[in-house]
Amino acid sequence: MDRFEVSKILKYANENLIPVTGWGSGSSLEGNPIPVKAGIVLDFSQMNKILCVREEDFQTDVEPGVIYQNLNEKLKYKGLFFPPDPGAQATIGGMIANNASGTKTVHYGSTKDYILRLSVALANGEIIETGTRASKTSSGYDLIHLFVGSEGTLGMVVEATLRLVGLPAEFSAAIVTFSSVEAAGKAVFEIIRSGLDPAALELLAPDCIELINQEQNLGLSVSPTLFMEYHGPTKNQLAEVIEIVQEICKEEGCEEFRPGLGWAERDRLFKARHELAEMIIRKHPGCLMMVIDVAVPITSYPEMIAFARKESEKTGIPRYIFSHAGDGNLHLVFMGKKGEESEWEIIDHVNQRIVSKALAMGGTATGEHGVGIGKRKFMEAEHGGSLKWMKGIKSLFDPNGILNPGKIFP
Ligand SMILES: Cc1cc2nc3c(=O)[nH]c(=O)nc-3n(C[C@H](O)[C@H](O)[C@H](O)COP(=O)(O)OP(=O)(O)OC[C@H]3O[C@@H](n4cnc5c(N)ncnc54)[C@H](O)[C@@H]3O)c2cc1C
Repeated sequence: MDRFEVSKILKYANENLIPVTGWGSGSSLEGNPIPVKAGIVLDFSQMNKILCVREEDFQTDVEPGVIYQNLNEKLKYKGLFFPPDPGAQATIGGMIANNASGTKTVHYGSTKDYILRLSVALANGEIIETGTRASKTSSGYDLIHLFVGSEGTLGMVVEATLRLVGLPAEFSAAIVTFSSVEAAGKAVFEIIRSGLDPAALELLAPDCIELINQEQNLGLSVSPTLFMEYHGPTKNQLAEVIEIVQEICKEEGCEEFRPGLGWAERDRLFKARHELAEMIIRKHPGCLMMVIDVAVPITSYPEMIAFARKESEKTGIPRYIFSHAGDGNLHLVFMGKKGEESEWEIIDHVNQRIVSKALAMGGTATGEHGVGIGKRKFMEAEHGGSLKWMKGIKSLFDPNGILNPGKIFP
């Protein structure tokens, strides 16, 4: 498939009112690429060429089916990387459509911060180019950021120019344990407040650590744990940063502060963190996973995490808390038994309570997984009067409603 075929398919589908849904790797967690109204699924996985890397400009042009890990594998030999890292084998097209984030977002930002230019095939088959290869612009409406996060409901991305960054000269990584998830959450807030700018700041509850130890034999202390990483120009500068971080963690009552992890250990930890969802699934055969994904302002993060812990604990259903803590982004994973209606009602109730709490704190119903099917019911509460303007934009780009119908809007 190439961009012209995508265009022809869309034109035909639009004239014949056939739904069209984009598909990257299918790793979304809110049912985003599921063709709920049937029709055509456009699988972009074979449109996977890295068209060029302009290393001096810190840019690359890619097709939408490129897997971000494959891109980074190629870029590392040029001392560059594309920072958003959702963990699963995600495509650039799927990341753009969901505005994906990852462990490094606290420092580097999310996918939206790395899109300079897009080629998009619209519902009527027209292909438009939007954006620029300049590193900044104030020219007209910002269509790029309409397409980013639109989950394939406004157009199909057929090419993207991505901004890249240089690999850090030095890094420093540490593992810190606490007596409670709340204390760890408070340390996160204090670290961010102090302007220490971690490159990654992940929180894992003890049951996650236990699972990682079982599966990967890492011998970590089974306590609420922060994995953290800092990037900088010299070892000396990072040593000073780590010293301040240690003081903050001590003040918040940390149990163990283990700095100075080498490449191998740091990579093993983050690999385990990325594989956590698969470990949880393996641990609970016969169960289905539900990931609650909310984000709140960092000042509210300690309260949010305490609330999620209490709400989920009383259900008695297996559940795991882990979190891109530095962004105030919480994941609560429930493993409910297949077909056990009563369990799913409880999970749904907790989901409602946690999302409502996040919204009441000025947060969002979805930090990074998108709206898809699962979060549609919260759109009215989150966006109020703006929702009708979103619907207006949708009908402008897709008047016949053929693009990924049944998503985003309640
Ligand atoms: C184990 C695991 C861990 C995860 N961790 C994270 C995480 O840390 N952070 C995070 O943000 N997400 C995470 N995710 C969710 C998921 O990986 C991301 O949302 C990812 O961006 C989806 O990419 P994909 O290629 O799988 O897209 P898909 O799931 O195939 O599609 C995503 C959306 O994009 C649309 N789409 C696909 N291609 C195009 C295109 N070319 N043009 C327009 N629309 C298109 C689809 O219709 C759909 O709406 C995780 C998922 C798993 C399974």
